[in-house]
Amino acid sequence: MPECLFCAIVAGRLPATIVYQDEAVTAFQDINPVAPTHILVVPNRHIATLNDLDDAELAGRLLMTCQRVAREAGIVDAGYRVVNNVGSQGGQHVYHIHLHVLGGRRLAWPPG
Ligand code: 5GP
Ligand code: ZN
Repeated sequence: MPECLFCAIVAGRLPATIVYQDEAVTAFQDINPVAPTHILVVPNRHIATLNDLDDAELAGRLLMTCQRVAREAGIVDAGYRVVNNVGSQGGQHVYHIHLHVLGGRRLAWPPG
């Protein structure tokens, strides 16, 4: 079994630009940004999708980390978006749960 991409980033086995890390969560720059700010926030332990998340404290830490990295990126006042794609129809490609923090430009709604 190939190792999970985001587990490898969390563990430092795969390079990434990490912008925040603590004992529970890691935030890093998306390799293919779709907005001037595009940061991914992940739990350090492997959880495949939102359907598998059963830890309310960790959920809160993930969300609060989105706020933190958005503030550090200077986009909190202009506004930004937090996205979690779930499963194939939701557009999820990496099956280690991640929140996208997107900002730095006006974002269209609804998404495609
Ligand atoms: P999803 O489509 O699963 O919601 O989002 C996966 C995201 O992971 C995409 O935005 C993609 O650009 C990003 N990504 C995929 N592989 C890598 C990688 O190796 N490093 C980083 N930093 N981001 C990645
Ligand atoms: Zn993983």
